[in-house]
Amino acid sequence: KYRIGILSMQGATEEHAGQLRDLGHEPILIKNKEMLENVDGLIIPGGESTAIWRLMKKNKLIEAVQQFAQLKKPIFGTCAGLVLLGKSQVETEEPVSLKLMDIKVKRNGFGRQKDSFEANLDVKGIKEAYPAVFIRAPYIESVGENVEVLAAYDNKIVAAREDNLLVAAFHPELTDDNRFLELFLSMVGEKSVLMI
Ligand code: GLN
Repeated sequence: KYRIGILSMQGATEEHAGQLRDLGHEPILIKNKEMLENVDGLIIPGGESTAIWRLMKKNKLIEAVQQFAQLKKPIFGTCAGLVLLGKSQVETEEPVSLKLMDIKVKRNGFGRQKDSFEANLDVKGIKEAYPAVFIRAPYIESVGENVEVLAAYDNKIVAAREDNLLVAAFHPELTDDNRFLELFLSMVGEKSVLMI
């Protein structure tokens, strides 16, 4: 049983908490940096990345999350969380960015006509098609050499991993399919073995 933090500034936090509880783990809603000290992994949820960024600043969580990542503790960013974890963004002069993962992100990349949609994806590490829910989703335009691409849709990268960092452009917490979260929990398992 792991203690998994969910960054709770703005956005979809309760759904992640429910899915973690369903799998027998303990969700902890992170509102300040002290709370980060006692969790095995962190989820940065979807929402509005600029709003989340501003609240992180206000709560002194930017450096704290960067340090958490430097300790090689696993972080999972979904949708706006993916935007925040990426090192750079397309067409943005001042990106909202924790500068952690070597990916270049296109915010709202799927444009208006596909604002929200569902798609069955082939995901590396998951055996059968995974039903992914996209909501004003970003995509990953390019990745650095240490980044493993896990899934693409319409020739656009929508899930990837780099060491202790995992990102999805979609919302795994909005389906009953727990397999993507399990992928993250297996990373938490790997890291906690190393830390003993
Ligand atoms: N479009 C949002 C952003 O860039 C992300 C949307 C989401 O998290 N569902 O912040």
